[in-house]
Amino acid sequence: MNKPSHAQQSTFTVSENCLQIGGVALTRLAQRVGSTPFYAYERTAMTRRVQHVRQHLPADVCLHYSVKANPMPAVVQHMAGLVDGLDVASAGELRCALDTSMPARHICFAGPGKTDAELSQALAAGATIHIESGGELGRLDRIAQASGIAPQVALRVNPDFELRSSGMKMGGGAKPFGIDAEQVPALLQEIRAMGIACTGFHIFCGSQNLHPAALVEAHADSIALAQRLADTAALPVATLNLGAGFGIPYFPGEQALDIRPIGEALDGALTDWRRNFPASRVALEMGRYLVGEAGIYVARIIDRKISRGQVFLVTDGGMHHHLAASGNFGQVIRKNYPVAIGNKMAAEQREAVTVVGPLCTPLDILASEMELACAAVGDLVVVFQSGAYGLTASPTEFLSHAAPLQVVV
Ligand SMILES: *Cc1c(COP(=O)(O)O)cnc(C)c1O
Repeated sequence: MNKPSHAQQSTFTVSENCLQIGGVALTRLAQRVGSTPFYAYERTAMTRRVQHVRQHLPADVCLHYSVKANPMPAVVQHMAGLVDGLDVASAGELRCALDTSMPARHICFAGPGKTDAELSQALAAGATIHIESGGELGRLDRIAQASGIAPQVALRVNPDFELRSSGMKMGGGAKPFGIDAEQVPALLQEIRAMGIACTGFHIFCGSQNLHPAALVEAHADSIALAQRLADTAALPVATLNLGAGFGIPYFPGEQALDIRPIGEALDGALTDWRRNFPASRVALEMGRYLVGEAGIYVARIIDRKISRGQVFLVTDGGMHHHLAASGNFGQVIRKNYPVAIGNKMAAEQREAVTVVGPLCTPLDILASEMELACAAVGDLVVVFQSGAYGLTASPTEFLSHAAPLQVVV
């Protein structure tokens, strides 16, 4: 049996043996950046991906970008010009989103444990605040009363179902996220008594899903749940955020998600909803799917050594910059991200190597026993699928190396 391989890397082109990012050869880009390691995000790849999603989603469904996936300001600026809303989960992300041209009401602040200071800033900004608990609602009401600003809120609902076969489940069962569906009617009454306007619901089930059938089911279940909650409270729903959960292929054997059937099924599932709430704004939110494939992480080979017959390429980058590629960001069994020698893309001589970083820990692995072009000191190791949950999901202080630069090309 053949070993499963990584899905084809179609996002970037290769010219004269060298990977191209935004039309710039990697070696030249490395010179431009001036130091390694670095992250590079390709602008046209992000644009193309948004176009792809829009092409396959119903035309009346809005698209939000989750800033958490990649909060680099230049990336968020670029995405703000392409999508209909930005989802943020901290005061820092809120500031980043407010610096863009996105209207504040289309900036949605979700996440557990919002502090009074964060609620106050979001209120003053005019952002939509996604309420995650009764306690949070009470604190927001007090802050709103004191400042005389009418808040705009939506309820984050913890559904009574789960997203099947998902990389990360964030709804269903007991969760710190959102308000349990069965508690929503009582909370809506409280909101009404406070005189606060509730625009609608936010139902996010999970992340990194590569199974269209599971996503179709979750979207249909979310719409049905929102309808039930709206009926119970006689709430004229103006906004419905359905989450998304779209995944990208990282590991050998995984295939790119086919979003066409998801868009078609969503169109059908919204038929009654559109009739009942013709003016409502239905949105999907996603981070990883929009930017994950547009980014690479680049490290330079510092040393090449052989230990008991195994070749080790030691680079200047590793888990402190890219925790996910090292296999330590939620993975149960370590698997290799797609990796290549970026300045030897067409090399015929290949060998099995292990690529490690400079940290004194056995966890600092970028590729384990992977077949790569024969590489030497000075060559550039590229980790693909690195545009989301890269730098800001990594323990950059560990071992006190300098932080990598990030560029948009
Ligand atoms: C993390 C998160 C997202 C983004 O998930 P992706 O897998 O990057 O698409 C969306 N919504 C909420 C509420 C989240 O917490």
